Amino acid sequence: MHEGAVLLNIKTRFQRELIYTYIGSILVSVNPYRMYNIYGTDMVLLYKGHALGENPPHLFAIANAAYSKLMDANHNQVIIISGESGSGKTEATKLVLRYLAAIQHTSNIAQQVSPLMESFGNAKTVRNDNSSRFGKYIEVFLENGVISGAITSQYLLEKSRIVFQAKDERNYHIFYEMLAGLPSQQKRAFYLQDAETYYYLNQDQASIFRVLASILHLGNIFFQRHEVLISAQEIRVVSELLQISPEGLQKAITYKVTVPLCALACFFGFRDAVAKILYSLLFHWLTEKINSQVYPHQHTLSISILDIYGFEVSDLTFNSFEQLCINYANEYLQFFFNRIIFREEQEEYSREQVLWQDIPFSDNQPCIDLVAAKPHGILRILDDQSCFPQATDHTFLQKCHYHHVHNPLYIKPKMPTPEFGIKHYAGRVTYQVHKFLDKNYDQVRQDVLDLFIQKDGEVTKHFMVILWYVSYLFLSFLLFRCNPFFVRCIKPNNLKVDELVSHQLRHSGILETIRIRREGYPIRMQFDVFLFRYKSLVGVHQIPAASGENCVLMLSKLCPLRPGLYHVGVTKCKRERSRHLAALTLQRYTR
Ligand code: ADP
Ligand code: MG
Repeated sequence: MHEGAVLLNIKTRFQRELIYTYIGSILVSVNPYRMYNIYGTDMVLLYKGHALGENPPHLFAIANAAYSKLMDANHNQVIIISGESGSGKTEATKLVLRYLAAIQHTSNIAQQVSPLMESFGNAKTVRNDNSSRFGKYIEVFLENGVISGAITSQYLLEKSRIVFQAKDERNYHIFYEMLAGLPSQQKRAFYLQDAETYYYLNQDQASIFRVLASILHLGNIFFQRHEVLISAQEIRVVSELLQISPEGLQKAITYKVTVPLCALACFFGFRDAVAKILYSLLFHWLTEKINSQVYPHQHTLSISILDIYGFEVSDLTFNSFEQLCINYANEYLQFFFNRIIFREEQEEYSREQVLWQDIPFSDNQPCIDLVAAKPHGILRILDDQSCFPQATDHTFLQKCHYHHVHNPLYIKPKMPTPEFGIKHYAGRVTYQVHKFLDKNYDQVRQDVLDLFIQKDGEVTKHFMVILWYVSYLFLSFLLFRCNPFFVRCIKPNNLKVDELVSHQLRHSGILETIRIRREGYPIRMQFDVFLFRYKSLVGVHQIPAASGENCVLMLSKLCPLRPGLYHVGVTKCKRERSRHLAALTLQRYTR
């Protein structure tokens, strides 16, 4: 069990069009970029009601396991799907939802929720034409095993995209869809057929289009010379569209613009901040709106699915505040993952009454503390600094250096460059502090929020929901109350495939899992399986009775036995209560 073996295995299977592989209880999924015929009703029926190992590895097996466990153990379940952009997380999320709907013949919630969320939260990037630019947590509630509703939460929407897109990338789909779709008479006629819903739908859509149009107009507001007098026309249009006061809007946009020298740069920053806040309010409102359509009557047991973008480190562009938030979320997921995997190991050992040696595992708590612990975690310092009018990215950086210079996970640059480094579990990342303060502050600009709250415009009223406190701490309370399943998505398409995939394996924490297992007893076989498999090597035709003694007997004929190299566990009851099966644990043969 090592990196090369895992890689070869995944690769060989992938070439045989087997995109799913189990590593322990973790499902690894390699994106084939073309649909195999493996998600039909026949497959749903194949996996329905069958335990994890009974059929070949498949996403449906994981979905089924979550469902069965919820029913058996009466406990909430979560399926954590991670991987880098374009690896297949969102597709996997939809497939899980489809499976859950299919096994009980209910309507597929994903079909109702996904298209809207994707219009507003997805965009074309260089890595994925339909890249989700937000993290998504969908809770599917079940009442007596039947889906009764769902709640979607969204995290860390990439706001910078609203005002800036990298080369060959686009803004959120909805802008293009709106511009392309609006003049179409046919579409309107189509809605008219549904007279009753039309009114509400139309009301809602008008509000949405108003906000979207405002954002586009905002982007066209330009600054003239050093004066704070700006395109009056756009200000008027935007404030009319949003039903807010033109003076208030102008003030928000020209906020802090007093020093002529920085005026231009500041101005664009504040204009963009308003656009970003508007869009995130809209996105939040939309999510709530969608939720209200499928909201469960009561909070019963649930299966949740977490679709969150993986660890990000860019060699081409800068790593900034957004990357720090994403990487922190992943660091936390890894922490959770480690704990669970470690706990599972420990439980297996105690079930089998095998002595549990202390196996070291890379606990990443120190890194989590470095980023977010009170009072001096990097994000805490940032929050703190955001409240000081005199603070700058530079003072923030100095504070970080001051508090963490001796932290082995923190890297203070040798030259006085405006950056700091963090040794994440997945590797070291250098973050450029440029705009850290602004970006963090954008989330909490009370004056801009007030602008939309003070008036009673319909759009703005709906937006009165707390969202701007960055939800980087959201994972902690969500995950620990669920029983987890892990799906690690892998993206194979690149010239240097092997290198690329092993990189992702490392980032996903799978190799660390393997290491933990290897330190203990990595190969575990049930007595009967072991005896069946090796009987011919010792010239036995009849399978001996499934017992520990017989296994040891056979083992001693196979190889020289040394104590400590193997361990015989106890009989363990599998789910089928009539069949008493036993487990044999063997330590690896070579050191
Ligand atoms: P992510 O959410 O990880 O960024 P997506 O789920 O959007 O990635 O997948 C990117 C693209 O890859 C999809 O649009 C689809 O074409 C393809 N894809 C993903 N998963 C599968 C799959 N299981 N089978 C076939 N194609 C897939
Ligand atoms: Mg996605």
